[in-house]
Amino acid sequence: ETQTDRSAQVAQVIAEPKSAVLHRHLHHSFLSLARGQGSNLILQDGRKIFDASGGAAVACIGHGDGRVVKAAMKQMSEVAYCATIFYTTNVCEELCQFLVNSTRGHMARAYIVNSGSEAMEAAMKLARQYFLEKSPPEPRRTRFISRDQSYHGITIGSLSMGGHKYRREKFQPLLLDNVSRVSPCFPYRNQYRGESDQQYVDRLAAELDEEFQRVGGDTVCAFVAEPVVGAALGCVSAVPGYFKAMQAVCDKYGALLIFDEVMSGMGRTGTLHAWEQEGVVPDIQTIGKCLGGGYQPVAGVLANHRVMDAFEKGTATFVHGHTYQGHPVGCAAALEVQRIIKEENLIQNVDKMGCLLSQLLRQRIGNHPNVGDIRGRGLFWGIEFVADKATGTPFPAQAHVAMEISEMGLAEMYSIAVYPGSGTVDGANGDHIILSPPYNVSAEDMRFIADTVARLIEDFFADRAGA
Ligand code: PMP
Repeated sequence: ETQTDRSAQVAQVIAEPKSAVLHRHLHHSFLSLARGQGSNLILQDGRKIFDASGGAAVACIGHGDGRVVKAAMKQMSEVAYCATIFYTTNVCEELCQFLVNSTRGHMARAYIVNSGSEAMEAAMKLARQYFLEKSPPEPRRTRFISRDQSYHGITIGSLSMGGHKYRREKFQPLLLDNVSRVSPCFPYRNQYRGESDQQYVDRLAAELDEEFQRVGGDTVCAFVAEPVVGAALGCVSAVPGYFKAMQAVCDKYGALLIFDEVMSGMGRTGTLHAWEQEGVVPDIQTIGKCLGGGYQPVAGVLANHRVMDAFEKGTATFVHGHTYQGHPVGCAAALEVQRIIKEENLIQNVDKMGCLLSQLLRQRIGNHPNVGDIRGRGLFWGIEFVADKATGTPFPAQAHVAMEISEMGLAEMYSIAVYPGSGTVDGANGDHIILSPPYNVSAEDMRFIADTVARLIEDFFADRAGA
């Protein structure tokens, strides 16, 4: 097919229909979905799109799984809603117990909410209240330190922690001023040439230490980080020893360590909890996305014994709570998704298929002049695009390269969904896409993804050069 055919197909993808829906992104397709079926999404006109993104790294067991539908419906017919101020339910108890057990005793309790942003808000409050309940209390602790080029959610508290310039910009006056940020661990762009991993870790630990000193070490509740950075950087994991060093700095100042595993956790990066690969256990951990696999809006917060003991010894309760916390249908869906993951050994498959995907991507596009870096873990792979491979120079933000690639992927000749991301260089400039397919993919699926993505990238940059 020619460039004109492609352009016509892409124009079809982004044609704006009459719609009463409020959200309108700058780009983004307006294709309407009829159904999901395994790794495929099916449009109203019957065309199939391979969901290589799993939505936003959510659909971990694929779409339309009848077992989850059945479990959720059963729960809905038994008890659809529960005012948790008066009651508990077996499903909520069971899900929290499953989560606590899955940490082999490291975490003491779980709290179930509806979204990753809510989980982050709850984590912030839990950290703050911990310092009020512990003995002796430390009421001066009101600050948080997070990292640049991070994403922690869209509510005011979670947005305040995130480092995505575009999302923050317009709301700056509303954001919390008790949050500051340090550099992320991002070897591709920030590790100096010739700098060893240990030297890099030491440099980042020194930066965090300085930040604690700058704001006052005894005023900080927690350091907050994504163990593998998702939306804002495109699947960037830290160099070995990084999180151990960061935890040591937190310990030095008595602050908590909070891991945001909303995107990287629940099996996505090859272990049920992303911290299992870092040699540290956080004090508080948030989860979301792959907890419920997209079948219900469900997310959670886990807190360790250090945190919970302060509450229990003082017989305090967490001053928080909202209408749909511990929602029974969300819990039932999550339990069934987690049962399927365990029973079908899907996390093993994540590891195996992830290795294959990485090899295939490197073979197919590793030498492409506009592919700067291919990185990831498990079934969580990022491809960063650059204007110049040798210098790593990004495309300007207004080129929307990742967004255009993802839109082009939805055109009929590719029919593949990839997740677009931007802000890779400084929170505004720089592009990447994320590949995060369901956990139950096959080797054949991996070949399809690598081949299709390679064709897509080659065509996109050929068109761009020719345009
Ligand atoms: N934290 C991380 C690491 C995320 O990736 C996201 C969502 N992309 C969130 C928090 C916010 O989750 P939600 O969109 O469910 O509110």
